[in-house]
Amino acid sequence: MYGPNTIATRRMVKRAVIQGGLEAVSLLSRTGIMPGARGMGAIFTLHHVRPAHHKDFNPAAHLTITPEFLDESITRLKDDGHIPVALHDLPEFLAQPEQPGPAMVFTLDDGYRDNNEHARPVFEKHGVPYTIFISGGFVDRTHSIWWETAEQLIGMVDEFSFDYGKGEITLPTRTLIEKYAVFDQLHKALACAEQSAIVSRLDAKARQAGICPTGIVDREVMDENELREMAAKPLAHLGAHTIGHLNLAHLEPDQMRSEIVLSAERIARITGEAPLTMAYPYGDRCAAGPREYQAVRELDFKLAVTTNPGVLHRENLQDLFALHRISLNGYYQKSRYVGALASGIPFAFT
Ligand SMILES: [Zn+2]
Repeated sequence: MYGPNTIATRRMVKRAVIQGGLEAVSLLSRTGIMPGARGMGAIFTLHHVRPAHHKDFNPAAHLTITPEFLDESITRLKDDGHIPVALHDLPEFLAQPEQPGPAMVFTLDDGYRDNNEHARPVFEKHGVPYTIFISGGFVDRTHSIWWETAEQLIGMVDEFSFDYGKGEITLPTRTLIEKYAVFDQLHKALACAEQSAIVSRLDAKARQAGICPTGIVDREVMDENELREMAAKPLAHLGAHTIGHLNLAHLEPDQMRSEIVLSAERIARITGEAPLTMAYPYGDRCAAGPREYQAVRELDFKLAVTTNPGVLHRENLQDLFALHRISLNGYYQKSRYVGALASGIPFAFT
């Protein structure tokens, strides 16, 4: 067990180690000592893209980057020889016998409205294609976004009473350390079969406190009309990200499959075409594994992406339904860190 202080310390230490490591890799990659590590390029994951705005309690800070950082990152990658590729064109790109350079592929998860306002102009300036993964339940405002609800609710209360699955417990949420500890506990509790029920209980708590969970979605996420307009832009593409944004690994097989099928149908009603690509919600090894990869493979998708970190290698052609991605992290917004990650060196020994 870790107490709240230990959790906060670990969070800080981990960040310092990663940052130090990226600085070292950045220097190392400039020496060209491991040219094979970068493989055939990288798929990047973004979430929010918006101007910097300081908040004390900001559990989504790692999921938020600025348009300036995106701009600098693309410039850096181009300088390093990366070629912009649309996600659904990746299999053909990887299959070429002679690579014109490593690929850079951009993806944005969850369909935030700021993607249109702040990321689209940057992609258009550079002529870089991008794929936005959308969840039907967010588009239709039938499902809340638990991490946005939790940020607002935990941010405003001094104690938090909640049933994580074993009866209601009350924890203090007066200090930032306590707030982060409760947020982490909620995050951990959601990786189970009861995740929908836990989100419903969170929504009920939020409403009692005067917060409208689907109102947050309405404020933050693009609706059908905006997505239709967005998808009509030449560089923009939509990909499936289920309906309820649930951890698929904890669902019964039928529900898991219908989350994927219905989300493809929902996108087809927006764009007129079935999506070619899919991103597993949460996307790590605890949220998607061989069962989920196989389910997507059996449908009409061309490929699917995880959040497991790594660059692209030729062997990825063998398993296009478990592609790795690199998250552009709001804590490390330096273009030399993106160059360091794209060098593949951080993933070469894992
Ligand atoms: Zn997502």
